[in-house]
Amino acid sequence: LAPAEMAEMKPDLVAGIVTEQGSRTSHTAIIARSLGIPAVLAVPGVVARVQDGSMVAIDGDSGEVHIDPDDATRRAIEAHSKEVAKRKMELRAIAGTGPSATADGHRVELAANIGSVLELQAAVEEGAEGVGLLRTELLYFNRPTPPTVDEQAEVLTEMAEIMGGGRIIVRTFDYGADKPVPFVQLGHEENPALGIRGIRLARSHPEIVLDQLRAIATAATGGGRFGAMAPMVASVEEAEWFVAQLKEAGAIGVEAGVMVEVPSAILIADRLAERLDFLSIGTNDLTQYLHAADRQHGGLSDMQDPFSPTLFRAVDQICRGAADKAWVGVCGEAASYPAWALLAVGLGVTELSMGAQSLLEV
Ligand code: PEP
Ligand code: MG
Repeated sequence: LAPAEMAEMKPDLVAGIVTEQGSRTSHTAIIARSLGIPAVLAVPGVVARVQDGSMVAIDGDSGEVHIDPDDATRRAIEAHSKEVAKRKMELRAIAGTGPSATADGHRVELAANIGSVLELQAAVEEGAEGVGLLRTELLYFNRPTPPTVDEQAEVLTEMAEIMGGGRIIVRTFDYGADKPVPFVQLGHEENPALGIRGIRLARSHPEIVLDQLRAIATAATGGGRFGAMAPMVASVEEAEWFVAQLKEAGAIGVEAGVMVEVPSAILIADRLAERLDFLSIGTNDLTQYLHAADRQHGGLSDMQDPFSPTLFRAVDQICRGAADKAWVGVCGEAASYPAWALLAVGLGVTELSMGAQSLLEV
């Protein structure tokens, strides 16, 4: 099930999703979560076991899947489902009571990952203090031609109005790997996750990224608070190129940042931070690349565990490198686990961005 197909699913028609491939951090799962559709990925052999007319009960939190559950299991699942709904209602009471901080008053910004205006509205209701990751590629999945500057500026301006004074970090197009590239012809790639994606694609088509940055500049002039962020940055040279584009686009007062999601960026975090306002750790890709394990591969989903010591050492090293130079956030799915979020804050992370449905729990 491709991310673009998932994005078309109607939450009122689709009660849940189970797939054999993928992992918690594949884009199909991320989009399902944002639509509020329970999903369990990487369940080997499930397709052969489900017949037409089977009842399937799934728990998107625990990853449990029951095929034709007996009465006792069904009752237990229904009771649990009610508890979850009750907990959500209770959490609702703290939405918007921020600014968010730890119990001892240490400020941590809680922001949302979004891919549409609708998701932003939902995020604001959940108390999002800003947007830590706008996945712009999700706005234009099905277009044959790139959006114009005006079109993009209009969407960003609308978002700034919805967000009030909160900052919106706009990630430039991150097509490639599992997100097909809609308006650029790329040759066949044997390993698209290691291929021309993210900022690599931007550098081969600078006019597309420049238009994105011009749109941000326009929306910022209108009073919105914005950051611009490049995906898949692996070198100082790429970061410098991005900063130069931002300047060329005339963006004033827009914070410049890059995602840290390629292992090489961990090792040069200090040098990146000297040139930027912020670094945002993309734990989804960072985990897959650190472990050399495809996040789409159902058989390797265990290797996407955000609690891996490898990942915490990476966060630690990034925070130490960036200290006193740039602020560090996290926008990968790891930020949505309360225990993980707590450890990341201890290591020096000051902004956590996640799917809106996790904000209140964190
Ligand atoms: C990431 O890689 O952690 C990330 C936030 O970006 P995406 O999931 O869109 O690749
Ligand atoms: Mg990524």
